Amino acid sequence: MSIVPRLLEFNKKFVEEKQYESYLTDKFPDKKIAILTCMDTRLVELLPKALNLKNGDAKFIKNAGAILTQPFGSAMRSILVAVYELGAREVLVIGHHGCGMTNLDTGGLVNKFIEHGVDPLAIQTLENAGIRMDKFLRGFENPEEGVMHSVKMIRKHPLFPHDIPVHGFVMHPETGNLEVLVEDYREEALSPLA
Ligand SMILES: [Zn+2]
Repeated sequence: MSIVPRLLEFNKKFVEEKQYESYLTDKFPDKKIAILTCMDTRLVELLPKALNLKNGDAKFIKNAGAILTQPFGSAMRSILVAVYELGAREVLVIGHHGCGMTNLDTGGLVNKFIEHGVDPLAIQTLENAGIRMDKFLRGFENPEEGVMHSVKMIRKHPLFPHDIPVHGFVMHPETGNLEVLVEDYREEALSPLA
């Protein structure tokens, strides 16, 4: 059976019993931070708990690997909106050990597309149009490299403000331990975290 009926049943009860009341907040991040991190299931609750982040504290942008693959894609747009529209004053990129995007087997992934019914000709057509599968699907050699790639791409983005620090971290997916790769306080005048 699909999980959706169970989700809907729970949801109805959640709303009826007003369980949402302890989560009420607004769209502006209270701690004035935006976090680009991985969609990994192990981080869903662990990351906020390990950093003492509550509902309303931070804008979360998630994808596979916390990677910015292109400067004008949706992840970068989300970061820009978080900063310019929603008051984020610092950006944290948080990768993690044991990430599925480490040494992702792009060839193997393409084979899975085909096993699941994708026409190899369609893949060839995309390749011919310049959509290289190895580039589109690429991960990174280690999480540190992935995080630093994203940090650098945000920092040098032509639309990103120079006075907003961009920090890089790697989290342990079991203990929640956070390793600092780069703590980016370039500007002395920055206001501290709320
Ligand atoms: Zn990951």
